[in-house]
Amino acid sequence: ASFLTMNLSRPIIKALTTMGLHKPTPIQAAAVPVALLGKDVVGGAVTGSGKTAAFTIPIIERLLYRDKGKNAAATRCLVVVPTRELAVQCFEVGTRMAGHTDVRFCLVVGGLSLKSQEAALRSRPDVLIATPGRLIDHLHNSPSFTLDALDILVLDEADRMLEDGFADELTEIVKACPVSRQTMLFSATMTDSVDKLIRLSLTKPVRIFV
Ligand code: AMP
Repeated sequence: ASFLTMNLSRPIIKALTTMGLHKPTPIQAAAVPVALLGKDVVGGAVTGSGKTAAFTIPIIERLLYRDKGKNAAATRCLVVVPTRELAVQCFEVGTRMAGHTDVRFCLVVGGLSLKSQEAALRSRPDVLIATPGRLIDHLHNSPSFTLDALDILVLDEADRMLEDGFADELTEIVKACPVSRQTMLFSATMTDSVDKLIRLSLTKPVRIFV
């Protein structure tokens, strides 16, 4: 398998080449084509499987063809991850992979002041990489911040977020998103609580286990 057979846009192919990513990993080979079709995806995949690129490639590809007239000034994609460290990693992968495009990523994590993050949010990034607690802070306290125009929601390491006690936050985040959207959920393990979250947040998902 090759990234070249996935019909990806030139700026993405160029970035993958620069990043030294030539051959898709199994989760990428299975998830990217399904996600590009706009379908919901459950990915059973651990850290190290290449799952970050598996959701980042379709995010950028789909946002490249967004209608910039409609909702141009709104967040189109939200990636929720358990930790600040993981958020920084996702942000760096996304920023590099979108380096030849106009798709912009923004970190929404604890440790920075709410005020400075509000300013970053007002600059209308396309993709937010967030931890659950901080995202809820903004939903509650940043008057102009909404998820009303969201097209794509990614819940990464869902099992870990649930183990860390974020079930209520995740429920609230999912409910703040439009019903009509694409959702991708990744989890190393499939527990009852992960299954409950899948039923709450995904519609007829394609299940991929590698
Ligand atoms: P992840 O599972 O997303 O945390 O990725 C784990 C590591 O795999 C990262 O260091 C990536 O740079 C690397 N990686 C991701 N996709 C590929 C690929 N297609 N070929 C080689 N390495 C990759």
